[in-house]
Amino acid sequence: MGKENRGGRGGHKPNFSNRSQRGGRPRTGLGAKSKQKTIIEPHRFPGVFIAKTPQYDLLLTKNFSPGQTVYGEKKIQVTDESSPETKIEYRVWNAFRSKLGAAILNGIESIYMQPGSKVLYLGAASGTTISHVSDIVGENGVVYGIEISERSGRDLINMAKMRNNLIPIIEDGRKPYKYRMMVSMVDCIFADVAQPDQARIVGMNAQYFLKNGGGFVFSIKATCIDSTAEPAVVFANQIQELKKMGFKTKEQVTLEPFERDHCVVTGVYRAKKKKE
Ligand code: SAM
Repeated sequence: MGKENRGGRGGHKPNFSNRSQRGGRPRTGLGAKSKQKTIIEPHRFPGVFIAKTPQYDLLLTKNFSPGQTVYGEKKIQVTDESSPETKIEYRVWNAFRSKLGAAILNGIESIYMQPGSKVLYLGAASGTTISHVSDIVGENGVVYGIEISERSGRDLINMAKMRNNLIPIIEDGRKPYKYRMMVSMVDCIFADVAQPDQARIVGMNAQYFLKNGGGFVFSIKATCIDSTAEPAVVFANQIQELKKMGFKTKEQVTLEPFERDHCVVTGVYRAKKKKE
């Protein structure tokens, strides 16, 4: 495997604090009505942004559905410098509510999705993280959200009404043949189903939908697989399972301090062999 990343990386060092990632209010105030100038910079991942305030930095995505929030997150509006009448709205990405957000803050090397990408999202729940994925892939991309729970699925469907790049599918991720007519080949699979057989679920979906050389981002909660084993052993076993199914893992990132005993593993599927 590639490397294990325990957070932080060289280059730009954002000043993220725990409070800021809960969407906490900075002492001097921040938001649409704030007089203080907020500087928004692109993150190194296209479609992801950072708000720089004197107190701390905030992870953001550009709101695909301006005016709407999904999980009570804060919004930041700024004036478009090229057109002063136009406002751009961003949503604060709370890393305590999103494993993908936590992995980004902990310095993950690649998320295998960007504006225009097609993403299959397994375990969409009521839509917290997938809404940020919808923001990232934007109007030229698409995200298919698979969720088994009808209750969470109702919220997901309601949210998707405001986001025409998000296709909610209330189905069991173990049965990809049931939704094969609705999903195209994708660039990336993101998986967060928190099930003991989650590696097999990802493998089955990759066989149907992930293009050769496509990326995967796989969240592992150790206690969902085996609550008696050391998390490091559980992670290593899951990686072995992925390898047997044609995934080449490249990176493992801990989600501490945002989530205990979780990691995110990324890599590529049926990677093309390099010519000698
Ligand atoms: N990724 C979500 C987020 O960050 O907003 C949270 C996902 S939660 C940890 C796991 C979700 O996977 C639950 O909503 C659960 O109902 C769903 N799930 C579990 N087993 C599934 C399966 N076989 N197929 C599809 N979804 C499943």
